[in-house]
Amino acid sequence: MKIGVLTSGGDAPGMNAAIRAVTRAALNSGDKVVGIYDGYRGLVYAKFKDFRRTDVSEILNKGGTILGTARLPEFLYESVRKIAILKMELDGIDALVCIGGDGTYRGALDLSNMGVKVVTIPGTIDNDIASSDYTIGFSTALNTACDAIDKLRDTSSSHQRCSIIEVMGRHCGDLALFSGICCGAEYIITNETGLDKENLLESLKKNRLEGRRHAIVVISENITDVHELAKEVEKYSGYECRATILGYVQRGGAPSPEDRLLASRLGKYAVDLLHEGVYGVACGVVGNELKATPLAEALKQQRKSQLELNNLAKKIS
Ligand code: ADP
Repeated sequence: MKIGVLTSGGDAPGMNAAIRAVTRAALNSGDKVVGIYDGYRGLVYAKFKDFRRTDVSEILNKGGTILGTARLPEFLYESVRKIAILKMELDGIDALVCIGGDGTYRGALDLSNMGVKVVTIPGTIDNDIASSDYTIGFSTALNTACDAIDKLRDTSSSHQRCSIIEVMGRHCGDLALFSGICCGAEYIITNETGLDKENLLESLKKNRLEGRRHAIVVISENITDVHELAKEVEKYSGYECRATILGYVQRGGAPSPEDRLLASRLGKYAVDLLHEGVYGVACGVVGNELKATPLAEALKQQRKSQLELNNLAKKIS
């Protein structure tokens, strides 16, 4: 087989480890491997490179993606996807491994429906892919968020401040929920919990009256303007309040061991599935078992952060 591998959408630490695992597993089985640069754009423009073992040396521990990533809105058009398929045929690429988030999965499903042999690997820091308990990049982003929140806690405590920290996770609150629990946040707001402003202000006021020196509020992106929220908290609670948006720093850095392991397992699994003739599926780890879910089904479910953890956060704040 000649297997093409690409990374698409938002980058995530551990994508390189997945590229490496796909490449090495395929080459070790006698397949050929083609690196496709800049996601679906590279497929359309035939930005291909035949990969040897050494093309993926020294990348296991590196953040970002050596293949680059891009967004190609035109991939929604069948005519554009037909060009991509033609470029694959001209190069003799038999099958694709697409590493990315839900947008990448949608593109892969469209290709699959047009007859392309494709499997996907979840690569996104948001942990918002329902067909896998964890996505590649989430663990590293969680470490980054926890490191930042711990540091903000130090200064908040010194100044008796409230810190509002916005983390990524537009569709799934896991990054806020996990980092909030791990850093002892007083209050966690995600798109699953929603923002109950009255309750937030009241509990921060109570905190302050109880003499707590600081308060940490962790909130997912895209919920509210956190700088405006900080002004309201300051006015109402008695705490001086600062908002910090962690932003793109969460996407960077060397992948954690957990992400390297997950990426290595899923990369090899993707190649195994192609060998078994299983296509049109999303690779994932569910209950620590490797699992393939049909792409259409994987995209139907929306991942929600765990109820048990939401309750835990409330009980121990
Ligand atoms: P992510 O994969 O991180 O969610 P995006 O949502 O930006 O990132 O998607 C990555 C790329 O996948 C898009 O730029 C586009 O090329 C392709 N894509 C996204 N949605 C679709 C769709 N509905 N149909 C076909 N291709 C899509």
